[in-house]
Amino acid sequence: MSAPDTTTDIPDEVRDRHTELCRELDDHSYRYYLGTPVVSDAEYDALMGELRGIEESYPALVTQDSPTQKVGAPISVDFAAVEHLVRMESLGNAFDIDELNAWADRANAEVPVTGYLCELKIDGLAVDLVYERGRLVRAATRGDGRVGEDITLNIRTIAVVPEQLDESVRPAPELLEVRGEVFLPVEDFEKLNERITADGHAPFANPRNAAAGSLRQKDPRVTATRPLSMIVHGVGAYTPADDGGPDVAFTSQSQAYRLLGEWGLPLSDRYRVVETMAEVREYVAHYAADRHEPAYEIDGIVIKVDDFALQRRLGSTSRAPRWAIAYKYPPEEVTTRLLDIKVGVGRTGRVTPYGVMEPVVVAGSEVEFATLHNAREVERKGVLIGDTVVLRKAGDVIPEIVAPVLDRRDGSERPFVMPEACPECGTPLGQQKEGDVDLRCPNARSCPGQLRERLFFVASRKALDIEALGYVAATALTQPLEPAEPPLRDEGDLFDLTVDKLLPIRTYVLDPDTSEPKTDPRTGEPKVVSFFANKQGKPKKTVEKLFEQLEEAKSKPLWRVLVALSIRHVGPRAAEDLARHFRSMDAIRAASEEELAAVDGIGPTIAASIREWFSVDWHNEIVRKWAAAGVRMEDEDDGSRPRHLEGVTVVVTGSLEGFTRDGAKEAIAERGGRATSSVSRKTGFVVVGDSPGSKYDKAVKLGVPVLDEEGFRVLLEAGPDAAASRRLNPEPEEPGTGAAEEAGDGE
Ligand code: NAD
Repeated sequence: MSAPDTTTDIPDEVRDRHTELCRELDDHSYRYYLGTPVVSDAEYDALMGELRGIEESYPALVTQDSPTQKVGAPISVDFAAVEHLVRMESLGNAFDIDELNAWADRANAEVPVTGYLCELKIDGLAVDLVYERGRLVRAATRGDGRVGEDITLNIRTIAVVPEQLDESVRPAPELLEVRGEVFLPVEDFEKLNERITADGHAPFANPRNAAAGSLRQKDPRVTATRPLSMIVHGVGAYTPADDGGPDVAFTSQSQAYRLLGEWGLPLSDRYRVVETMAEVREYVAHYAADRHEPAYEIDGIVIKVDDFALQRRLGSTSRAPRWAIAYKYPPEEVTTRLLDIKVGVGRTGRVTPYGVMEPVVVAGSEVEFATLHNAREVERKGVLIGDTVVLRKAGDVIPEIVAPVLDRRDGSERPFVMPEACPECGTPLGQQKEGDVDLRCPNARSCPGQLRERLFFVASRKALDIEALGYVAATALTQPLEPAEPPLRDEGDLFDLTVDKLLPIRTYVLDPDTSEPKTDPRTGEPKVVSFFANKQGKPKKTVEKLFEQLEEAKSKPLWRVLVALSIRHVGPRAAEDLARHFRSMDAIRAASEEELAAVDGIGPTIAASIREWFSVDWHNEIVRKWAAAGVRMEDEDDGSRPRHLEGVTVVVTGSLEGFTRDGAKEAIAERGGRATSSVSRKTGFVVVGDSPGSKYDKAVKLGVPVLDEEGFRVLLEAGPDAAASRRLNPEPEEPGTGAAEEAGDGE
């Protein structure tokens, strides 16, 4: 190191922390490369950031041995050591756009960058393959970058890795060393976890660990049972064949990929070469939004200077090239402590355990609770109360506790015991049918927890959309502290509420995630409010709003009323199908199970569930009371609307000027059509408003007719034939020309 030797000026505590961090990071690296990490990548990156900070302030602490200066981990004795022909490097990281821009500025200050190759940073593990005269002779892990582990037999089990290069376009090179990422596609990872947990083993926390664990098997026959795949993303040593033709020297990353592809090596079809950093940022933003579109997990984007001459001029640091950088997306997986497992009761009586965790930020939001579904699931995951657990939140998906980190147990953890009685009403829990994994509270009508959840659901946007009836109001109406008698016996009484019944109510403020009372920060006591009355005892504004919205709810279409009844398995989609077919509640109630099951979109399960629901007296009483209060129980058909969208599915995406999202859906349903949310070859039309997103791209790709708002009006008024002539995209000619598909493939 060129820094002046100032070791004597370094405070002891800094030196100690430095030693400790180096040891910890080395240990984490080793475990990570075995596929059994004990901290999340985010925690590892934070420790590395701290180490870097110390070394920037005290450069004398930087040695060749520091984790900031080296690649990967030492290799294990289980495999033979292999020296790479050309050193394998790591990558520098950018965690935000400023850091990415700073990297580009530094590169451009050295050389005039003419093009950037952007590609996905696959979350797998790096391997090195050596081909001699076209034959695969050796494969190794990255190891410490200089020496890796010989895994040739294991790599041979991967179907996409050619044993022999394809020479149909040009002869294979004398020597070719390629680098790439071995990974397990997400779907295969899920299947693998199902398989190994069924055999009583702990699941892998993520596809990367599963890939690492699968590849580093001493017995290649085990590796062969794991559907690993690989994508090549770099070249090491290279000696072209004497007769390789005019195009044999590698001149750029993208040109090298072209040749590697011709030799049959597995490449990504999602990389893109662009000229400007603005385009790089666009690529980064595209996959930030559509991170789960590829079949495998990615943890960022890799940006490389495309031209090899420029790459050589930029060179490398001790551990990473200066001509490339990894833009890292925010982690979707973190570790946290599982403080407790509690149970909650849902609107259908299902009693569900959920984890209470030390709050952590994952995928941009703070998470404190995560469902564990049922007691068997808790057992299957092997989590104990007090465990450090891996928590995952992928995109819009709800947070999930994936697995415990076994190596972090200290013996104080204890197993979860499923209660035998309902946590809200004390009724003994039971199974609906023999063998059900779910336990239910059978006290459906009067369990205050179930009623609260059902009422909240009646008001949800999926059902009658009564905004003024939120979680606190639902609690107030079903579990008031005062008066002793709740104003609602069940949801049948909802439309008979009066102001007088509301004013005296005082209630706890429950947290919708846990149904536990929130505490008042000033007193530390549970928060209690008069939800409907102000200090003078007069109705708050919300009361007026509530009655207005209840009035509006009475004329909502039949499918919404059906959804609001909380019949198991009858969500908006099934409710629309039922309403379209039967057109009235009476007709649905009168239909036999066979008649129900015969309806398009309704199968035997939904049909049985509907029959079962109508066989309960108090359920019929709800319908009777709602009807008596004026709730619309049939869809009007005055013949004024043509039903020319029968059998046609329509996807509306982006915002329209003249319709709300629900308004557009209803207009489609009223004409007999079906509004869905995902585009497939079977979609009749895709209607695009402003900012349509990737559904538009998918429609174009599949050749589904795309309409603008004008075209949509034509569709509603004059039907599919008239609308077809208004399509914005040309009719498809031949399917797929095989051009590289680079980005944007639906939601
Ligand atoms: P890295 O993962 O940040 O980047 C380098 C690697 O990216 C390359 O070796 C290559 O294998 C891979 N890669 C994927 N797609 C690529 C592409 N298209 N082009 C080029 N390379 C591509 O660096 P690293 O040194 O492998 O590992 C460091 C990172 O690993 C840390 O930032 C952390 O996230 C994680 N890690 C976690 C732990 C832990 O205990 N959780 C321990 C060690 C490392």
